[in-house]
Amino acid sequence: MKEAIRIGSVDIAVARDSYWAAAPATHLRDRASNAIPLERFAPYVGRQDPTTQVASRVLCFVVKSQGKTVLLDAGVGAWGLWRFGDGHLLDALAGLDVRPEEIDVVIPSHLHLDHIGWNTRPGPDGKPVVTFPNARYMFHKADWDRFTDPVIVDRQDPASRLARIADTCLLPISDAQQMDLVATDASVTSELKILHTPGHTPGSVSVLVESGGESVLFIGDVAHLCVQLTEYDWSPLGDVDRELSPKSRRRVVEEAVGRNALVAGPHLEEGPVYGRMVMLNGRRVWQGVDVPAQREIVAA
Ligand SMILES: [Zn+2]
Repeated sequence: MKEAIRIGSVDIAVARDSYWAAAPATHLRDRASNAIPLERFAPYVGRQDPTTQVASRVLCFVVKSQGKTVLLDAGVGAWGLWRFGDGHLLDALAGLDVRPEEIDVVIPSHLHLDHIGWNTRPGPDGKPVVTFPNARYMFHKADWDRFTDPVIVDRQDPASRLARIADTCLLPISDAQQMDLVATDASVTSELKILHTPGHTPGSVSVLVESGGESVLFIGDVAHLCVQLTEYDWSPLGDVDRELSPKSRRRVVEEAVGRNALVAGPHLEEGPVYGRMVMLNGRRVWQGVDVPAQREIVAA
């Protein structure tokens, strides 16, 4: 099992769905929405030009805790709506020997397309079919309210992309009565906690896995690029509340530092999936770590 780790008694595997890319200097703004002077990127991007795109990805994670199989994030889906092409989550799950029927819980970090795309898949008639028939889907209420709001999704516009996403990836889940709304921090098992970390969207969540004295924190889009875990004030223009998102970045970093937790996100730049917050040249930075393929050791 590639990129698999064991945290205490919890098995976690990476399921790679799709791609993403952004140029740090154009993606991020300071707190006043101004462009960040290019020289300020120098400690983070080295010799790379911060105005050029860095390759990134859309990852999902399969977490097995106390008999439950939990999917963190559900990728871009197969709805032709992601600019880098449809996703490969179902193939990735097959590669991990995980059948869609085995997923017990789906937790999108927030309700943007690239985290809910595979909530459903196109059926033979093109209509949405719930991808994970036995799963409870846990959505944060603040995101549900926003991304099903007729004004926000612009029901007046027949070409509204947000309305299409709501109709294909969100409303079929509540119609199937597979949705649970969470409104604050919540637990799925005693090893897996949902933390409300708003800012990118009102209902953005992170997931903390703790077992056997080890921990890993999945931060969703609290940060798209590693530099944001050092420069909390650097936010994409797409963050809906750019006062709250720096606070959430500070919270996840402090939660991680206090536990020496691994930190992973769905989009962080290509390279190691997991990292730790370390002090380097006077700054606290995310540093990727190579994790051994423990699953093979366990299986042997
Ligand atoms: Zn995203």
